Amino acid sequence: MSRRAWVALSLLAACARPRSQAPTPPVTRYAVAASDGGRTLTIDASLPAGTDGALVVDDGCAPFVRDVVIDGAPAELRDGAWRARCPDGCAVRYRYRLGEAARALDDVELAAARGGALVASPSAWLLRPQPPSQGTFELSVRAPAGVSFGSGLRPTAVDRYTSTMAELPLAPYSGFAPWRARALPLDGGEIALSIVGDYALSDDEIARWIGRAARMVSAYYGRFPTPRVWVGVLPTDGAELFGRTLGNGGASILLDWGRATTLAQRDDDWIVPHELIHLALPSLDARHRWLEEGLSTYVEPLVRRRAGILTREALWRDLWRGLPSGLPAPGDRGLDETPTWGRTYWGGALFCLVVDLELRARSGGQTSLGDALRAIVAAGGDVSQRWELARVLAVADRATGLTVLGDTYAAWAHAPVDVDLPRVFAELGVTVRGERVTFDEAAPRAHLRRAIEAP
Ligand SMILES: [Zn+2]
Repeated sequence: MSRRAWVALSLLAACARPRSQAPTPPVTRYAVAASDGGRTLTIDASLPAGTDGALVVDDGCAPFVRDVVIDGAPAELRDGAWRARCPDGCAVRYRYRLGEAARALDDVELAAARGGALVASPSAWLLRPQPPSQGTFELSVRAPAGVSFGSGLRPTAVDRYTSTMAELPLAPYSGFAPWRARALPLDGGEIALSIVGDYALSDDEIARWIGRAARMVSAYYGRFPTPRVWVGVLPTDGAELFGRTLGNGGASILLDWGRATTLAQRDDDWIVPHELIHLALPSLDARHRWLEEGLSTYVEPLVRRRAGILTREALWRDLWRGLPSGLPAPGDRGLDETPTWGRTYWGGALFCLVVDLELRARSGGQTSLGDALRAIVAAGGDVSQRWELARVLAVADRATGLTVLGDTYAAWAHAPVDVDLPRVFAELGVTVRGERVTFDEAAPRAHLRRAIEAP
């Protein structure tokens, strides 16, 4: 379209627009063409009018950005950024050496090569204004024959995705690979599963493993907690599993899947349910990571118990052994300000157990932490959303009709709160000696224990 025609059209649009209508948020467009198996990306970006400032990629990723041309003129890298002044919008073209980045960085949070896949977080290779601009972005990807692009970003069509510019710096995991893709439909959502590499298990067996865990999590929450999650399965040595989840404008899970993993390990797998439970909470500020990890740590055995996979003995033995790691150590400054491993995983789980017991005790068994968590999902609070913690707690408290979550958070966030764990277990009627677990059904809170462990 010529500039003159564009002006005429925009005048028409301006005349027709009602006064009260909010201005359309600006759209940044990225068109990516991958070549050489995904090792080189050629990116055309269209920046909206008014862009003025530094263009950046994630820290450490600038050396792999090459040949930046802004409106036809070569642009220089200065202080880790490219300067763009675009009163009428800019056309930016550059190349990204993803293969080199993967070799040099070897970090799945940025770029890494794993068994034929190039894991590539969009924030590592999409040039964006710093600080983040307003509005949304649209990404279209063209991959060479034999390779496809898998991504947790929200798809709008085949190989097209969208999200907000504010979410781009933490955008979900993505990658180029000869993926073997399949969709796992679930009640309330779906898993877009992408597998690369060779395993002792067949793709069908891996898909059934992940699908079974997803149905367990759905059974706890009443539905699959997110409309769509991309799950990338990458090969690793041995027979271990490892997972990580990232939301922010979509949902993604990367699973490092040991090539030697066998079906005999499936009932002991807590990794896949743990990651899937992360989908059922909005993305929070980093200082609240203890709630993200604590919820997954506390809810995962309950999910497997309800599915009839975990015995009640194993459930309480794991809590008995794990929860002491969640107690405040000397110098602790509360959950929001003590990001140690113990306080993040088990301190968060301890918060969940204490809240769950309090809700059940105060309501006479009418409500529980599970009700609060299902209300968050019902309110659209999944990992693709970024919420303030206050909103999460408000939805949870409203659902239970009590203020237990908000009150407990207020007490625990910035001060070390000790919990008398021997007393908690004694009241629940739980004793663990070595592998042996015994239950005292006459203990004062044995009914709360039975309610929590109910299959
Ligand atoms: Zn986790």
